[in-house]
Amino acid sequence: MYQYSRAIYRSIKSLIDPYADRITQLEYRRAVLCECEQTMERLAEDPHYFARPDRALFADIRRYFPITAQAQVAWAIREGVGAATAFIEHQIETGMLDGGVSRCHATTRKGKACQRTPLPSRDYCPSHQHLEQHAAAA
Ligand SMILES: [Zn+2]
Repeated sequence: MYQYSRAIYRSIKSLIDPYADRITQLEYRRAVLCECEQTMERLAEDPHYFARPDRALFADIRRYFPITAQAQVAWAIREGVGAATAFIEHQIETGMLDGGVSRCHATTRKGKACQRTPLPSRDYCPSHQHLEQHAAAA
């Protein structure tokens, strides 16, 4: 995921407050990179419960940029976080993302993958455990 946080950072680091002194600028850069990475970590760990990650990141780092650069920063964040979100969604759809967290194998009535945690050493969550018995019987 860090290729995405680095891409966002690269696209906005030159916009960081140009009137701050050198040491402050370095501090700002470090803080911005750190916030970008934390956003990506949280997105990878909890993609379904992280609402509006682009807005959250912008709110966290906008103070490091002059007012004239904020529209450009917001745009870069939206693009970068959008790319990361699309990547994660693709991983989930193709079953590539487990991130150490296993998910119930069932499909909900709406046709989406069930996001609940399976019972210990089972493939299904409590509300879908009948599917496992069904599969075992077949
Ligand atoms: Zn389930």
